[in-house]
Amino acid sequence: TEIQTSGRAASLNPGQQEAVQKICRHLAVMAGPGTGKTRTLVSRIQYMLEHRKVKPSEITAVTFTNQAAGEMRERLKKELGARRISGLQIGTFHSICLHFLRREGMDFSLAGETQCKNIAGEAVSEAGLPFGSGKFLDVLSRKQAGMPGWERELGEPDGSGEKSNRECFRRAEELYRKKKREQKLLDFDDMLLETLRLLVNGTPAGKQFTCLLIDEFQDIDPLQYELVKAWDRQARELFVIGDPNQSIYGFRGADAGCFDRLKADVEKRGEEFCTVELTENYRSTPQVLEAAQKMQGCMPLHPNCPDGEPVRLVKAGSEMGEAIFIAKEIGRMAGGIGMLEAQELSGSRERKHRSFEEIAVLSRTHRQAELVEACLRKEGIPYIVAGRESFLADEKVQGSICFFRYLEHPEDQSAARTAAELLLKLSWNQVTEEMVRTMAEKYRPLYAKKKPGKFLEMWMEDLDLQKAEAMKKMAGMTVFYKTMPEFLLDLELGVESDLRRCGGKQYHSGAVTLMTLHGSKGLEFPAVFIYGAREGNIPLENEKRPADEEEERRLLYVGMTRAKEELILTCSGEESRFLAHLSGNALFREKEKPRKKEESCHQMRLFELED
Ligand code: ATP
Ligand code: MG
Repeated sequence: TEIQTSGRAASLNPGQQEAVQKICRHLAVMAGPGTGKTRTLVSRIQYMLEHRKVKPSEITAVTFTNQAAGEMRERLKKELGARRISGLQIGTFHSICLHFLRREGMDFSLAGETQCKNIAGEAVSEAGLPFGSGKFLDVLSRKQAGMPGWERELGEPDGSGEKSNRECFRRAEELYRKKKREQKLLDFDDMLLETLRLLVNGTPAGKQFTCLLIDEFQDIDPLQYELVKAWDRQARELFVIGDPNQSIYGFRGADAGCFDRLKADVEKRGEEFCTVELTENYRSTPQVLEAAQKMQGCMPLHPNCPDGEPVRLVKAGSEMGEAIFIAKEIGRMAGGIGMLEAQELSGSRERKHRSFEEIAVLSRTHRQAELVEACLRKEGIPYIVAGRESFLADEKVQGSICFFRYLEHPEDQSAARTAAELLLKLSWNQVTEEMVRTMAEKYRPLYAKKKPGKFLEMWMEDLDLQKAEAMKKMAGMTVFYKTMPEFLLDLELGVESDLRRCGGKQYHSGAVTLMTLHGSKGLEFPAVFIYGAREGNIPLENEKRPADEEEERRLLYVGMTRAKEELILTCSGEESRFLAHLSGNALFREKEKPRKKEESCHQMRLFELED
């Protein structure tokens, strides 16, 4: 990924050097993909520690994923040693707020997905709101994120039924809050809201946010923006970095206009605001860059990588045909088949040999990745699936997560209770409380000592969960962690690329990565496949909300710009409108012939999905 490959500060270009060294109360770097923004942010931290004598405890860096935070920390540790970075804070908004509240001595437990749903369910029915807990939480979250138009979900303002809907909603909201307070629970949004509340009330601990650095600034939502503003009031300097053309979380209220908004807010206070631009791309071949930029219509970046293969759009007869093509093509790239066949299939172009971990397959939705997954498995290709998939919402998985939390926080009665309800299917009383306590006594020492893989194996055997599909998938995640608390952190707070599982056997390197376009943000791979580049899929036709066409275009742009050397898009049916205007020079179109195999793979897929 981006950080592992970066070199020493000496190899920064002049723009990057300026972004690393410039001292300005507010400094914004807005630049395109692969221009070294993330790398620059890490170098800036290093520079602050080495040359500006800033204390590590004065620095807070915000990343979009736990994984990015971990990589930044590792890189700084390697450059400077563990001692020099002790006290340095790097994390997502949520993990930073969680730590902050804990350090402030606030007594609370984190409410997991199921707990929130349960409490919301009670609140909704007591308030007489005519929809389910899921929708209630969704609307509430949109309201709290400060998204305009959240009320529309409750119905049109002129209908007579609507007014009571709004009243019911307010009532449900109150009840939801009260119930959480009674059980000392905070949900995801609460962590940010509570931190904000403490900062606004001027807690002395707010002083620790002295130097702030924020990556992927284009994707922060209005609530996070408020938090940044509150931090900034106490801070000595704020450094934000991002790319408005890669803003892809508008559906959660993020707005690429946040750079302008920050500038306006800062200048209104009469304070200093500086910007730095980066225009050199170090990630992609000129071919990849040209296709991506023509598609998006943004200002071209200057390529620094040597020429590569043309960007291809492969048209297949069906989605299954696309998935099979991808699996076969990956097999060929990794040298799995004879040269003769390879030449016949790829029009005798000489291909570079690749290892599996150099390859990523990106799709618009998680559901689509399942088809590719089935075909990769069929071909015997090792893969990792990344993202918040639906198995994580499974009862047994959620119950296990609650139990693990109870192991880590013995005072968390609410977690113990939910674990009992979900895993043992028992209601909470003295007997079940005793049962859970006994179980916890057995598992607590193991939780602290055992490797996650071993721990989960014992756990699944004990509770007879080995056959549950969702639990098997959960077990596929453990190879990525050394300790159970690390694992729990990602289960609870992880986003997108944080949540990875192995398909089939336990391998965590040497595997192809499958993820959504959203999940691929900030990452890079030598070879990238984009699956389903057709009309109806990108932009995605969605019953719930109309597609924001420009946001969908930016999403495709994010996906295409992950590729370093090779980019292959596939589609069936009509190609995406975003690609249609690209000439044959920028995008090399080919037809994939249907294969006999298609059918057997199709059957196998049905078998697996039913399983
Ligand atoms: P994105 O917008 O996708 O997050 P980014 O702007 O954060 O991209 P990075 O991931 O930091 O870009 O860098 C992209 C690649 O370019 C990385 O492999 C990085 O090591 C490399 N790179 C960045 N700057 C330089 C440089 N000055 N010389 C050589 N390689 C560089
Ligand atoms: Mg980046």
